[in-house]
Order: sequence, then C-alpha cells, then structure tokens
Amino acid sequence: MHSNNNSNRTTIMLKLSGASLNHNDSDNIISFEILNEIAQQIKVLINHFNVAIVLGGGNIWRGSIASKVNMPRDQADYMGMLATIINSIAFESILKNINIDAKVFSKIEMEKICDTYYLRNVKDYLNKGGVAILAAGTGMPYFSTDTGSAITAIEIGAKFILMGKNNVDGVYSCDPLENPNAEFYKTLTYDDVISKNLRVMDTTAIALCKEYKTKIIVFNINEKNSIIDTLNRKSKFTIIE
Ligand code: UDP
Repeated sequence: MHSNNNSNRTTIMLKLSGASLNHNDSDNIISFEILNEIAQQIKVLINHFNVAIVLGGGNIWRGSIASKVNMPRDQADYMGMLATIINSIAFESILKNINIDAKVFSKIEMEKICDTYYLRNVKDYLNKGGVAILAAGTGMPYFSTDTGSAITAIEIGAKFILMGKNNVDGVYSCDPLENPNAEFYKTLTYDDVISKNLRVMDTTAIALCKEYKTKIIVFNINEKNSIIDTLNRKSKFTIIE
C-alpha cells in the first residue's frame, strides 16, 4: 500500500451495471476478459485520480423478479445486494493481479469476506491511492446500485460518476438499437432526464445527483479503452450536469 497522501486529487466514481460484466452472456456470470480490460484502464486512471467503483448485480440477480417467483421483495433485494458483493470480490482480485491496491467495502457487514463501509476508512483508503470497490449498493432493500453510487459519490466527494453502459454510447431519446431515428443528447440537465423519463439511472439517483451537483458522464463500457477515451474527450458520451 502506498504511503502517499492523495487527498488533494480529484475523486471519481465508476459505476458499472452487472450486465456490463458479462455483456449479457448468460453462459458466463462474469467475464474475466472484460474485467481485465477495465482493470488495465484503472491502472492508468490511478495515476491521476482517486478511484471508487460501484458494481451492479444484475448479471446474477435482480430483486424485481420477486413478485414473479412469489418471494418477499426485501429478501430478493438482499439476494441482489449479495450479487454485487460477488462481483466486487471478483473485481478486487482482478485488480490485485495487476498490482493495484484494491479493497471491497460493503454496506452490509460481512466480516469474513470483506471490509465494512465506513466513510472515514474509505476516504483514508482512497487518499492512500487504493481503489475502493463499494459493494451492496445502499445496503437497503427497495433501492438500486445507481442510488448507491449517487449517495456514495456524494459522501466521498466524487466530482462525477462515470456511468458505463452496455452497448450504447450515451443517452438517446429512445433505444437506438430499436429505433435508428433516436436522438443523441450530448448534454442534458438533471431535470431533462427526469421530465423526458430517460433511462439513465433511476429517479432517486438522479434527484440526489441534482441536489448535490454531482455530474454524470454516460459512455459505452463495451468499447476498448472507453473510460480513458471518454475522460480525454476522444469518444462519444453524454454529460448530465
Ligand atoms: N439492491 C438493493 N439495494 C441497493 C442496491 C441493490 O436492494 O441499494 C438489489 C436490488 O434487488 C437490485 C439488485 O440488488 O435489483 C442488483 O442491483 P442493480 O439492479 O442496481 O444492478 P445493475 O442493474 O446495475 O446490474
């Protein structure tokens, strides 16, 4: 672990949905190839930023299935949060494989498996150059990892959330894969996202980002080197501010 103090560096949050960890390939819950590619980019990012990561769990389980299988919603949601912990542990080991200091901090206590999320510990870890992987979303049922990423970005003082999307390079008026006339938005306000009902992140998350002025950058995580290219403004993305 580095002993350097990076407290004056910009902190950024990377949010990836579970589906982007396997590109909707149902044979593999997690694609280690994809995680490796993202890890290589993080290796570059940590030279410039403090990096926090929130991973979804939709590649394994989503709580919204509860009613279909006659299960209480809270239980199904806890299963979803456990799914995010599985993804986070996988990513921690991938990052460590390439000598990046990384640690999972979970909003649900799981002492034998990972650290518990305490804000001061996470901030200290980031300021020492470690990559903090923040698992279990908000730690509460009825929420999403989008909302988890918004709350945590605010808490750790992240300047923006880099929201990696699967197969789409920003925000459109409707699904560009279904409608070739979909309009691409280069910039949007938080209110645009809410009033146009654009499916970027859920309304709770967007309202939090609006309230605390956290910018959201939406880009395509499937493109090679897309996190770095987005930050260098070399590829297409949408900014919400
Ligand atoms: N979840 C939850 N509370 C949270 C975050 C997640 O209950 O704060 C559950 C919820 O059931 C959700 C699942 O975990 O469906 C996986 O998270 P999410 O759907 O946000 O993952 P993604 O769609 O980004 O892969």
